[in-house]
Amino acid sequence: MTRNVALGQPTVGEEELAAVADVFASGWLSGAGPACVALESDFAAVAGVDHVLATSNCGSALHLALLALGSGPGDEVIVGDYTFPATGHSVMWTGARPVFADVRPDIWSLDPAAVEAAITPRTVGIVAVDVFGQPADYDELRAIADKHGLWLLEDAACAAGATYKGRPAGSLADAAAFSFHGRKGITAGEGGALVSARKDLVDHARKLHTYGISPAIVRDASAELPVPSFDELGYNYRLSDVAAAIMRVQVKRLPTLVENRAKAAAGYAQLLGDVEQLTLPVELADRTHPWQSYVLTLAPELDRGAVAMALRAQGVGCNFGTYASHVQPLYGDTAPCPVSADLFARHVAIPMHANLTEDDVEYVATVVRDVVSSAAVRR
Ligand SMILES: *Cc1c(COP(=O)(O)O)cnc(C)c1O
Repeated sequence: MTRNVALGQPTVGEEELAAVADVFASGWLSGAGPACVALESDFAAVAGVDHVLATSNCGSALHLALLALGSGPGDEVIVGDYTFPATGHSVMWTGARPVFADVRPDIWSLDPAAVEAAITPRTVGIVAVDVFGQPADYDELRAIADKHGLWLLEDAACAAGATYKGRPAGSLADAAAFSFHGRKGITAGEGGALVSARKDLVDHARKLHTYGISPAIVRDASAELPVPSFDELGYNYRLSDVAAAIMRVQVKRLPTLVENRAKAAAGYAQLLGDVEQLTLPVELADRTHPWQSYVLTLAPELDRGAVAMALRAQGVGCNFGTYASHVQPLYGDTAPCPVSADLFARHVAIPMHANLTEDDVEYVATVVRDVVSSAAVRR
């Protein structure tokens, strides 16, 4: 019997609906209000840092972090090549140039040796991506950043709940940006957060996220009538309080959601570990993977498009992994990143979310095994 197993799926329900009803009753639906303040305090505990700014999405959090770190025209910023467009785009939004560096073949995040090789006198910082949630090599990247006087930013879009040497994602660089998009591990549909141990950085980002003036909730608390003047070009990057209330419930659910995804990942590892045509994703011993996605590397002789279509025909949701940035026309002439280009061509993401049942995992594994071993998907 054919099933339909979604590639990704949010886990939301009555508790989130009740939280939304509370926001309706409060009358404060717009952004940067009491629910955002409460979420920021809750999320500080998840990210292991003192300062959090709730934002409209991860792209805006990255943009604000880059601005606060000083990225601007004439600068070069080294970016892990294998990532979603937000990472390179956000560097360009500041007027700086993203310089893409190749990634590790096993966990797909920035290869520290490639970072060293990409440094020029114009380099001001490094953006490491926690690819599909597993943290990058922060000890090595920090050492390189310190040696060359660079800042280090963590694209933790998929990494809520991950750890690196016992420390939570979010606390691993000068600042980090998370996503609360519907495809991520915890979600309000859309949303994000900028986090940092540095108060000055988050204070500056907070001003920029509401058109360059202090948020209404701060002004309302004043004994006088503050009338702001504009001295910096800000944006509207606020998270609505409706989304913030949903996120507070999601943050409470986070340990369970990670546990459920880890169970599914363990199931796939057990059921697909011996399939010759596949390389399975790894979780390194010194970090924990929150499994935002579960991504297979197909043997070179397989036709990825044919595999994907065959999986979908049997109700198994799938997609390519993420993007090799350096081959995208937008970014112009860039140095080659052969590892990333290869992953971009061979990766297939299969269903991974916290609602997967054991039966789902078994069904998906059976279909995957059949499809990749069939002659029809060979080049
Ligand atoms: C999803 C994602 C983003 C963008 O998140 P939005 O909230 O949609 O802006 C950025 N970086 C990575 C690595 C992502 O996976």
